[in-house]
Amino acid sequence: GLAEKLQDTFDKLRGKGKLSEEDVKSALKEVRMSLLEADVNYRVVKDFINNIEERAVGEEVMESLTPAQQVIKIVKEELTELMGGEHQEITFADSPPTVIMLVGLQGSGKTTSAGKLANHFKKEGKSPLLVAADVYRPAAIDQLEQLGKQLDVDVFQMGDENDPVDIVKGAVSSARSHDNDIVIVDTAGRLHIDEELMDELSRIKGAVDPEEIMLVVDAMTGQDAVNVAERFTEQLDIDGMFMTKLDGDARGGAALSIREVTGRPIKYAGVGEKLNQLETFHPDRMASRILGMGDMLSLIERAEESFDEEQAKELEEKLREDEFTLEDFLDQMDQVRNMGPIDEIMGMIPGMGAANKLKDIQVEEEQLDKIQAIIQSMTEEERRDPDIIDGSRRRRIASGSGTEIQDVNRLLKQFRQTRKMMKQLNKKKDKLSGGGLPG
Ligand code: GDP
Ligand code: MG
Repeated sequence: GLAEKLQDTFDKLRGKGKLSEEDVKSALKEVRMSLLEADVNYRVVKDFINNIEERAVGEEVMESLTPAQQVIKIVKEELTELMGGEHQEITFADSPPTVIMLVGLQGSGKTTSAGKLANHFKKEGKSPLLVAADVYRPAAIDQLEQLGKQLDVDVFQMGDENDPVDIVKGAVSSARSHDNDIVIVDTAGRLHIDEELMDELSRIKGAVDPEEIMLVVDAMTGQDAVNVAERFTEQLDIDGMFMTKLDGDARGGAALSIREVTGRPIKYAGVGEKLNQLETFHPDRMASRILGMGDMLSLIERAEESFDEEQAKELEEKLREDEFTLEDFLDQMDQVRNMGPIDEIMGMIPGMGAANKLKDIQVEEEQLDKIQAIIQSMTEEERRDPDIIDGSRRRRIASGSGTEIQDVNRLLKQFRQTRKMMKQLNKKKDKLSGGGLPG
């Protein structure tokens, strides 16, 4: 992929103490090739490389950086700029509800993304309403209803025999009377842009004047996504984009060129089929990821969303009172799993992205399954008080969970270590916050 290619290029630079203009030029040539191969629009690449060349040659080398780091820094800044600089927030209405209208081609991920946004806003304490305005495929309405059920979010629908404009108007007044502060409209798509589709979308736009017309584009479709975005921008004056399937084998080109070509920012990214696999799009983080620097901030954000704050407090309390049990251990592991597939999480950790050792990760997942099975084979008493688990109990647990005694032993050891480590962390925290008396 693009990240690996760029990393190779920069690795070559890193080996050198001082960079000549020649070094910079040949590195940029490789960057240019990598970008073109990643299907980035060639005009965008040309401007991009020119900008970097001008800066790399003109700029004084910062003392704290090696020349190679300096070039990488410039490339990162320019990549960030290319994708719009700052993260762009959704515009919220002065008086609710805020109407977000999702538009895009069939299969781009509108319905899924509508669900992801509802989930995202709900976690922020808002009360979203999903609207089924794709009346041409009755299955689309069912799909949204299913998502609504899963998320415990209201879904507004009037069946498939109504005009989408009436549906959306009805939804907005329903939102007003039910205190829904965000209305997320899932519209119909076509395989190709046609006049009828644009006409329908324009009529909906005219009727409810959405705060945000968000185009959903599929990153996997590369330059086609960029062309589609150009057309939608011209005809519907969209406000921003939700780029889906960035988790796939996308060559990355769409994410890099779309902002430059349309003048509209990517606001959210879809990174998987699951409803929590949404990321707010930050150009600088995306640039880091493309450059293989990992993406700690996204990781931390994901962790914060997955970890229940109240549960964390409870855990702290338990540790204090020495009541941290194997059940808590299991809960904790579930939370880590909620963050998403392990391989995806690893990809965000610096240094792990490029050389993703998929085999090891697979083992890791299997290991987690095993641990889960073992704990589930214990009695409640054993989970609460692991110290009572003697030899015969270990044998029983191993056979009950289809594992070996060594697996049970390893888990118990791990549990003890975790408990000890967490206690120490807690003590440190107390001292730092001035909670404990000195000495
Ligand atoms: P719509 O026709 O625009 O409403 O598209 P759907 O929401 O029905 O999605 C089409 C397909 O794309 C489904 O199989 C989704 O699971 C899948 N999909 C949507 N977003 C993502 C994403 O971010 N990553 C991946 N891998 N798949 C996605
Ligand atoms: Mg749909």
